[in-house]
Amino acid sequence: MPISKKARIQREHKKAEAAGTRAPVKANGVPVKAPKPLTSCAYCKREVISTNLEQMRLHAAGHDGKNWPVEKCFPKEFPTAP
Ligand SMILES: [Zn+2]
Repeated sequence: MPISKKARIQREHKKAEAAGTRAPVKANGVPVKAPKPLTSCAYCKREVISTNLEQMRLHAAGHDGKNWPVEKCFPKEFPTAP
């Protein structure tokens, strides 16, 4: 007897969970995209994706003041050497 679709999906989830690869899915089975980690600029509070260093550099370069380098906008992601 073939297993039901639901049982099959549950089995796949269990397998993926055991492997640590289970992606969160909605009730209808559509994978939920992981929310992008955001960080906000210390200068203008604008949020950018904290893993996108290039975007942060571009963002900082767009500021008027040259006194706000990317290290000041995002000190967490661009720590200055002591
Ligand atoms: Zn900014």
